[in-house]
Amino acid sequence: NEVNLVSLCQNILKQFKHVYRREITFHSEEDPIIIRADELKIKQVIIILLDNAMKYSKDKIDVFVEQNENHAIVRVKDYGIGIPQDEINNIFERFYRVDKARSRETGGSGLGLYIAKSIMKLHKGEIKITSKEGEGTHVLLFFPI
Ligand code: ATP
Repeated sequence: NEVNLVSLCQNILKQFKHVYRREITFHSEEDPIIIRADELKIKQVIIILLDNAMKYSKDKIDVFVEQNENHAIVRVKDYGIGIPQDEINNIFERFYRVDKARSRETGGSGLGLYIAKSIMKLHKGEIKITSKEGEGTHVLLFFPI
């Protein structure tokens, strides 16, 4: 099935902005950007990333959709608490949460990124995270095209 990542992200952001008072900015220079995927599952991945960005930051969130020769790319960028360098490899594990104390207030099961990674694997894609404590987190989804 064909999915337009641009309209999918725009629709999800519209819903988020309705429900939450947050500045979420969408960036894309092309439309459409089409991948072959299960739309509901990709929607779930993007919601997981946005949900995390909302939980672990207070300022604006930027969402980018773009493509190069080989990949369509979705990026979610926040300017929140970030993830300590030595935890980055753990956060994809099932039920893993950074620092139980700081996470307790925000709630969550530690399943989100595990599910996101599983869905990306299913689509022969990749999920990558770069982050700096106190500065923010950047999550990238790569889809083969
Ligand atoms: P849920 O399953 O409800 O999403 P969760 O957010 O705890 O709960 P994951 O999405 O798997 O679970 O994230 C794992 C951990 O990674 C989180 O507990 C949090 O510590 C850290 N994390 C994930 N995204 C971010 C982010 N954008 N900024 C800072 N920390 C993050």
